[in-house]
Parts: sequence; C-alpha cells; structure tokens
Amino acid sequence: MSDRTAIFGAREGNEGIVRCDACPVLCRIRPGRAGACSRYANRDGALVRTDPLVLMERTLDAGGATVPFLEGSEDWAGGLAPPTFVTAIGAGTTYPDYKPAPFIVASSHAGVDTVTVVTEGIFSYCGLKVKIDTDRHLGAETAAVRVDGEQIGHVTTAEYGSQMLSLGGVRHLTGGSKREGNVTCAAMLALCNKQAVEVSVDGGPKLVLQAGAAPIVDGTPERRMRVGCGSAAIGIFAQQWHGHVDEVIVVDDHITGVLSEHQAGKCLGVPPSGIKVRGRRSTPGRYFQVAQPGNGWGGTDIADPLAVIAGIDPKIAWPGLRLLLTSTTGEDFLYVVLDEDLRPVPVAAPVAVRRTVERIGENCEPALTSILFMAGAGGSLRAGVTENPVLLTREVQASLVRVTIGGAPCMLWPGGGITIMADVLRVPDGAFGYVPTPALVAPIEFSLSAALYARLGGHVDHAVSLERLLAEHGGAARHEGWMPENPWPAP
Ligand code: SF4
Repeated sequence: MSDRTAIFGAREGNEGIVRCDACPVLCRIRPGRAGACSRYANRDGALVRTDPLVLMERTLDAGGATVPFLEGSEDWAGGLAPPTFVTAIGAGTTYPDYKPAPFIVASSHAGVDTVTVVTEGIFSYCGLKVKIDTDRHLGAETAAVRVDGEQIGHVTTAEYGSQMLSLGGVRHLTGGSKREGNVTCAAMLALCNKQAVEVSVDGGPKLVLQAGAAPIVDGTPERRMRVGCGSAAIGIFAQQWHGHVDEVIVVDDHITGVLSEHQAGKCLGVPPSGIKVRGRRSTPGRYFQVAQPGNGWGGTDIADPLAVIAGIDPKIAWPGLRLLLTSTTGEDFLYVVLDEDLRPVPVAAPVAVRRTVERIGENCEPALTSILFMAGAGGSLRAGVTENPVLLTREVQASLVRVTIGGAPCMLWPGGGITIMADVLRVPDGAFGYVPTPALVAPIEFSLSAALYARLGGHVDHAVSLERLLAEHGGAARHEGWMPENPWPAP
C-alpha cells in the first residue's frame, strides 16, 4: 500500500470511519479496511489510495541496455530528474469532477512550460474492440458473446484475416441486469489488464482471449493469420505456381480464387481447366459462398476440399491435369491429378509445389488477439481539468492537447466529444481498475502547454511543479521505464 494520503474523503462519527468520495458509491470505510473497489482504504483514519502512483522515466536504449535519459539532450530541459512522466495510474479520482484533478503537474519540455493533468477517469461509457486474427468462423455478425452466460458484447464485422468483437459498452454495463453489468465490467477489466478471459459465442466456439496472445478457438491455439483472401493469394502466388500446376483453387469462406479464370492466370496464359467450383461467381476467378462458414478449410465448413468442385467439363479438362487446392494459410492443402476418367486422384505433391505452399505459410503472420480500450472522455472529468470544459474538447480536437492512457497514445475519433481508443498492450501493467457502479477506471492524462492551459481556464492555482511532486510522492511511487514504442506525450 502506498503511504500517499488522499486529499479527499471525510471522517464520520467517532469510530474512525472515513467516507470515500472518489466515486458515486461513497463507501464508508472502517479503520484498516478497504472500500468496495479495493482502490481506497482507511489507514489510521486517513483515506489512502492503495496502489502507488506510477511514474515513467524516459530511457534510451544503448546497445540493448536501458540507461538513464542523457542530460543535455534536446528533449531535456534540465532539473534534477530525468524526464519523468506522471501517469494517472494510482493518482486517484476526484468525484464529482468539479474538483481539480488529483495532480496538475507543471514541467518543462524542450524549453516550453507544460502542464500534464492526470486523473483516474471513471468510465461508464467504455468498451473494447477486439481483433482476432483467424479465418475460422467465430459466429454470425451480431451473435452474442458471453461470459458465465451473461452477454458482454457481440460479434461484429470480419476484417481482412481477422474477426472483430465489440465488448462492453454502456448498454451492457447499465442497461441489463446487475449481474450482466458486473460480469461485463469484470471481463473488461481483466482484458484491459492483459489477462486471459474465456468467452463463448452463441452459435460459435469458445474462445480464450488475451491481448498480445494467440487466440484459442475451442481449445486450439490459432497459429497463422492468412496471407490474404483466396483471390489475393492467387494474385500473389500465380507466377510461382505457373508451370508447376495446371489449376489452383484457394479455398476461402469469403472469396475463393481459381487460377485459370483469375486475371492473374489470364495474364500468364494459363488455359481453362474445365474445373468448375461451387458458389456465386463475383468476377472472373473470384467466387463467393462456396460453402457454409465453419472451422474447416479457409473459414468454411469444408473438411474434404474436393467438395468445392461442382463439376469437371470433359470437353476442356484432360487426363493428367495437375490441380492444387490450398487454404489461405497453407495449413491445409491437397494436390491431385486427374485420371483417365477425369477423376481427381490425390498424389504426393512435387517439391516445387510443396515449396509454393510453404511460401504461403511463410507469408502468414502470427495470429494474435489485439484489444483496444475505447472510452468517452468528453464528460464530467473535463471539469477536473478546466472550468470551461468545451474549451478542452476543442483543443483536444485541434491536436493542441495530447491525450494519453497511462502514457499510451490515443487515437481520437473525429466529430464531437473526446472519444478515444488505446492499445492496452501499450499501457503499464495493472493500470485499469473498477468501481462497483459498475464502471471501469482508467488512467487518463492531458498534456498541453502551460500558456494554453491558462487560456482554456485550467486550474492553474492547483498546479505543482514536477520537482515538488517527485520530492513529495516519488519515494512511494512505482517507477517504470518509458515504453519506447510510445511517443513522449509533450504537446
Ligand atoms: S468504490 Fe472505491 S472509489 Fe468508490 S467510494 Fe468505494 S472505495 Fe471509494
């Protein structure tokens, strides 16, 4: 437990009880006990934040070693400490937000006076966008995604080699039963803190999701993210197949490719093979709906790839025709030769053909689960930054205020409000918390020039210098190295 004492909270009665006012729950906490969220506790009659403040110090990589940031470099404006960024992790919350944020830190960057306003935001409006690198069918669009039977989100669009899920959001947090809200909040919290969560999809598989890890589909870890759709695979590898096979079918749930009909085959002079595939022809050599979605070849329900063939035209095909069928990852492939009766007979693939399949595998990337935290920061927490919140919104939208989540850069959505997304892998461990309203607690920092902060009505009287903050809180703080993949959040 940090020995940093919160400046908020009030004593009640004579039993040493403290009322925590850091969120709407307003816990009454007895001495030696923690509040409902475990983020605050009563220590000897004082309200304390139970996690340390996280300070991130910028370092340079010197031949793989981590070294202190070099004094005198152009980003460093002098002073006693290396460039230190005060994150909002462990900073505390100031509910209701008309109070100034817990820390308003004045420092200097490249000779410019700056301010960083940090607070742990309580987000009822938040969710996760989950990208799962897989071809497999994870459920129909809008299918419910559940944890312990409660719906916490839904399947949304399939993207290029990935299936997207939308999890959380205000409707699941507030619009259903109390259990639905609590289960949703707990699942989001675990995923934001980079832990594994098992979910089930209505009409689909069980999934184990963890940011930065391979998705596990019905107990099997996904290995490869496909090279492209079936048509793209034809375009990429046509030249490498040319001369080694007479026809190639790349089986894909969305767009199955057929070499001889595809423009890539036409350009190479590949003659028609007379092999017709099932499904709806979109454009030459590109077929939709060759099968049902599933966990078979290329995200279809096909286990026997020859099932994709609707017929073989005896006027065009010939005995000895060499046909390669492959999935979009190269994990599944079959090489056949037509016999005298034009029946496909599986045979061992020649080395040159095997090499092309291996090349498909080589061009696949590792399958990962990626999780973006998405939240609306355009609400009351702005009042902890400035007395005129719309000015903050405008300056954020004008890119004059840099918004970070625990130091991680945020993508800002266009349009109104401050709707942001951040990759949870770029946020320090254990940065997210919760309150039982239920809502997620996420660190958020606003960095801007001191001059702009004054112009937009900031709480300048509450600013403390970085040096003073380090002197008062640096000892109990958790010190971490700056994540080199994150840009330094100076305005
Ligand atoms: S839930 Fe946590 S933040 Fe909210 S009042 Fe209780 S101890 Fe404080």
